[in-house]
Amino acid sequence: MRKKIVAGNWKMNNDLAETEMFLVELKKQVFPENVVVMIAPPFTSLNHAFNSVREHPVMVVAQNMHQSSDGAFTGEISAKMLKSVGANTVILGHSERRAYFMEDSAILAEKVNTALENKMTVIFCIGEELDDRKKGNHFELIITQLSEGLFHIADEAWENIIIAYEPVWAIGTGETASPEQAQEMHKLIRKTIAENYSKTIADKVSILYGGSVKPDNAIEIFGQTDVDGGLIGGASLNVESFMKIVNSF
Ligand code: 13P
Repeated sequence: MRKKIVAGNWKMNNDLAETEMFLVELKKQVFPENVVVMIAPPFTSLNHAFNSVREHPVMVVAQNMHQSSDGAFTGEISAKMLKSVGANTVILGHSERRAYFMEDSAILAEKVNTALENKMTVIFCIGEELDDRKKGNHFELIITQLSEGLFHIADEAWENIIIAYEPVWAIGTGETASPEQAQEMHKLIRKTIAENYSKTIADKVSILYGGSVKPDNAIEIFGQTDVDGGLIGGASLNVESFMKIVNSF
């Protein structure tokens, strides 16, 4: 059985006080036993969030990390630093990092290696732009992002990989991929992993969908065979809508 996961990516939202307000509400909720719930606050809230949810079945994950172990990289955060504040999972390759911070496949492959060497779990994001889809390049592009970012890792490392398929045109736009479009891409991702590794490995990897997941579309999207959960942006900033999504399996 693959893990079902709902992860809230807060992006650059919520200072420390706002984080605490969110967590006070979140901790009152009853969590379904079959779903792994994660939140990804900004770096400045990680340690507080980790300590605050210690007794709760919520995992605190980081949104990014630098590929080097330490050194002269002003403003950056290392794997060791993340682990020291309780974050053992990190989101890598988000389309906003790729687009605004020039993170290409070579850098992302290095980040994946650093995370795995530090025994961290990676939520690896891939996704096409609208233009790619219009031109019919989307399948090829996803396979390229997948192979350039991940296909150098060892078989055993897949235990620590979660994939998030996030079509860029659906992020923050209110437009979602249809459940059929999500399923089609998730199936292709799983098939590509099976072809390059094995069916056993591919069948165990959780593949999340991200892009305008809301309480009113989550059930249909999560109902698809190869969709194992969601990476939620905007709707994860409100406890009520986040919990509705968590309860959508
Ligand atoms: P939205 O849910 O706001 O579209 O964001 C999705 C996303 O980028 C999650 O990482």
